[in-house]
Formats: sequence, structure tokens, C-alpha cells
Amino acid sequence: MPEALIGKRKKKPKMLQVSCAFCKGKGKDPFDVMSSLSNCCVCNGKGLVQVQVPYEACAHCRGTGAIKTFTCNVCNGKGVVSALPEPTVICPECRGTGDDSSAMAMACLKCHGRGRITGNNESERGK
Ligand SMILES: [Zn+2]
Ligand SMILES: [Zn+2]
Ligand SMILES: [Zn+2]
Repeated sequence: MPEALIGKRKKKPKMLQVSCAFCKGKGKDPFDVMSSLSNCCVCNGKGLVQVQVPYEACAHCRGTGAIKTFTCNVCNGKGVVSALPEPTVICPECRGTGDDSSAMAMACLKCHGRGRITGNNESERGK
């Protein structure tokens, strides 16, 4: 049981505003799903999104925020994800692509689409 996690107070996460990857900062729906005039569903038309620092580019969507015309479900369209605590290793399942081997549009189950996993997790056992 990870008792060490209980009672330890985490520092308040630092947030940063970055340009929305899904609409490239334009604030409009990039794929005209509703209409070209509708606001981007990721940033609500602001062109900016809040991300937690430190962050890294989302492996699954290659930082674009989109999988085909859908919002990437790993980064929720932001194009970045909060970085994993070090040390990390390249995910052996998807070799860092963040994609499921059977369906590219799906996120890798092992690393949840990040392309990396925490390296010192001994309970994580490969098949
Ligand atoms: Zn946007
Ligand atoms: Zn993504
Ligand atoms: Zn993976």
C-alpha cells in the first residue's frame, strides 16, 4: 500500500497559458465540425489554453491536438500534457508514438498515449 502518498501535501501546480494547438491559436473550430464560425471547443474561442508546468508535447497527436478531425483524447486538444515525474522511459508498447498498435487513432493503453512511462515503477511488469 502506498502509504507515503497519504499526508504528503503537493505543491500547487504551476499553470501556464499556451497557444491552443487544436485551432493553432485562432479560437475557431479548425475542422468546421459545427461551423467555421463556431468557437474552438478546446479553448472556447480564446486561442489559449492552460497547461500544467512542466509539460511536454503530446505523443499521440504529435502535439497537434487533433487525431484526424477529432480532439485528441490524451491531451484534450491542447497538444501538450503535463510531464511525468522523472525518470521516464520510452513506452515499449508503442515505442514512443502513443498510438495503439491495432488502431492508430486510439491511444496506447500502456502509456495512455504519452509515449513514455515512469521508469522506476517496479510494479509495472511487461508481458
Ligand atoms: Zn482552440
Ligand atoms: Zn494529444
Ligand atoms: Zn505506449
